[in-house]
Amino acid sequence: MFRANMVANLWDLADEGLESALEFLQSDLGVGGVCAAATCGPGRHLRFGPEASPRVFETRGGVCFLPESKFYQDTRCKPSPAEWLRGRDLLARLSAHCTKRGLGLRAVIDCTNIGRIVTADARFARKNVFGDVPGRQVCLINPDVAEFVCALVHDLHQTYALESIELSGLDAMDEPAERTGDSIGTGATQLLALCFCESCKQLATEAGVDVAGAARSTSVRLETLFRDGQRIEVPVAKLAADDPPLSAFTAWYVERIASLVERIHERSSREVCLHVGLRGDGAEAGTASGYARGAGAVIGDLSRWDADLADRALATLREAVGAARRLELQFPVWTPDTGTAQAGVRALAYVAEQGIASVNLNHLGRLPRGCAEAVRQAIRFAGRTGA
Ligand SMILES: [Zn+2]
Repeated sequence: MFRANMVANLWDLADEGLESALEFLQSDLGVGGVCAAATCGPGRHLRFGPEASPRVFETRGGVCFLPESKFYQDTRCKPSPAEWLRGRDLLARLSAHCTKRGLGLRAVIDCTNIGRIVTADARFARKNVFGDVPGRQVCLINPDVAEFVCALVHDLHQTYALESIELSGLDAMDEPAERTGDSIGTGATQLLALCFCESCKQLATEAGVDVAGAARSTSVRLETLFRDGQRIEVPVAKLAADDPPLSAFTAWYVERIASLVERIHERSSREVCLHVGLRGDGAEAGTASGYARGAGAVIGDLSRWDADLADRALATLREAVGAARRLELQFPVWTPDTGTAQAGVRALAYVAEQGIASVNLNHLGRLPRGCAEAVRQAIRFAGRTGA
């Protein structure tokens, strides 16, 4: 049975009223599940909801539920509930409503953007090779942060009636926190995203990696870009082929995150799924695809409703994680150029036809209500195709 899940921020659901928001999702759109963001970074969010007020929702970020402190005893990294929760356990309320309505409920943890962790203690921050702390992102290599993410998953699974937990933000090695666009090239983007925080430097050195050599190579390459304006298109994986320190450092990083993801799976009582970014118009899978061992499902994140893009993405993901892994896709619920009924119907019908049983639509706060009918048609058509 094909199912569409709506990704939603709890502040949007709460503002609209849980009951009426779920009624809209289930009865008007035909959505079968909700993916609630369980963490959020600091940021401003423009909202499209019919009565959204304020239009731009600003948050300092944090965890979007009421954490149980007993789960976080083995880490110095402590969860701070986001300020807009104001002591309310909205996830518990959402869970009760979803159970009553027969809607599936998932929680989404963005592993890199967990608000206020870095403000509380700068040691938990990701740092680029120049020592900058961009975007208040956390470094998952830091042992306290790693334990913290394990504890988050455990806490959420123990406390709430969740069908599964989705982990996103694990492609951090492909994406620096600062907005660089495409202007500097894939390789430069990835070099800028490499973390050289104290934990990374210390643990990699202990593992026998020439960290100083990797840092030198990274900064020299980037300085060439800054000086001569030469884009670095060659991805780090290829650059590293002739660069032993860079190769050892990136391989070490990937292995550390892979074993963290394995540890999360081992300690989790229920299903944990993994988001994987797709670059180059679906032709290339992000580093997170390397962490899929043991994942319940791998969710490919697409940038638009497009059947051809979905086709390429599925082929790329199958190659990256193996044909046996359960695949799902995530589409933006609306984009200005492709959020039309035809594009949506074609894309969702295509993926349903390919045997993909679950698709996420990202996200409720970005759905112009005038496009709800297009979304409804796409879900209904895919449901018939996939049945
Ligand atoms: Zn680090």
